[in-house]
Amino acid sequence: MGTRYEHMRSASLRRSPTRRQILAGTTGAFVATVGSRVIQPAMAHDASPAASPNVQPDMTGAVHRFQIGSFACLNVSDGASISPDTAGLLFAGSPPEQVAEALGSTGTDPTTLANHHTSTVIDTGDHLVLVDTGFGPGVSPTDGLLPGNLQAEGIAAGDIDLVIITHGHGDHIGGNIDADGNPAYPNARYVMSQEDWDFWTDRPRVEEAIPIPDFRDLLLGFVERQLLPLADRIELIGYGEEIVPGITSIAAQGHTPGHMALLVQSDDEQLWIAGDVALHPINLPFPDLIGLPDVEPERMIETRKRLLGRMAGEGGFATFYHFEPFPGLGHIVAQGETWQWEPVMDGPATPAS
Ligand SMILES: [Zn+2]
Ligand SMILES: [Zn+2]
Repeated sequence: MGTRYEHMRSASLRRSPTRRQILAGTTGAFVATVGSRVIQPAMAHDASPAASPNVQPDMTGAVHRFQIGSFACLNVSDGASISPDTAGLLFAGSPPEQVAEALGSTGTDPTTLANHHTSTVIDTGDHLVLVDTGFGPGVSPTDGLLPGNLQAEGIAAGDIDLVIITHGHGDHIGGNIDADGNPAYPNARYVMSQEDWDFWTDRPRVEEAIPIPDFRDLLLGFVERQLLPLADRIELIGYGEEIVPGITSIAAQGHTPGHMALLVQSDDEQLWIAGDVALHPINLPFPDLIGLPDVEPERMIETRKRLLGRMAGEGGFATFYHFEPFPGLGHIVAQGETWQWEPVMDGPATPAS
């Protein structure tokens, strides 16, 4: 496989003075609360906001170039955070003994897990495609970097002619719409799965599927601001559709009811854009772990296992939106009944706090 690594500017590290703002805000505080409630007792103390003075990664300039056949690809960071909150996000729906086994056998420190937000750009020659738009500006001080990171690579928002949304979670759609309420990528077709659009725009269904009010309201706020304004413009598709030559939608429901992965193929090479089929490399050896945002857990696990098996069997590169370390790009290797993640290279290390 002929992936080239043309360059990557390593992210530097800074201590964020505004960490408390995240925790006092939306996602962080909510996830910390859920994490400390579910992952008892070992993590209860560590998951409290006061115990999370982690050094935060500055993903400004974090871009990784690679090649899939004749397609020039780019993994671009929207941002990342390192926090005990991430453990709550990853393990909220899992039995404590299963979490303990996963952490113990992989040597994972639950207080310094990183949650990345990494979009992918594919230049097919005929189309410049962006997959997922990040959190958007103003949500957290460590995110919202995608437009600037694209610009630094010479890609203006107006250059993107296709935006593909893997699913309707806020961290994947938050950069759809600009501050004036217009599409942030003004010349782009926007595409997502019909099934996910139908779910997120059906409020009674969302209320039933996501019973925790704070979390649901947070997510619906993103839908209102970042998805509904596209109602007249967005193209809703099914699975197994070639969106543009070389990029095909793949059924990946469960994380959300209409979650969509992508298969990018050029010449004899391929890239799986797996979105949130797994949220962290720990989900490969432990595919039964259920995270806070997994809307249909049983279906998610079935999808995860099916697609990991397919990715390992058919080969090629895979990229996952949240994986640490950046750029979240690597190979899936089968190992017995489960899988291992082989990252193509190490991005910024998870720092010791
Ligand atoms: Zn998601
Ligand atoms: Zn996500």
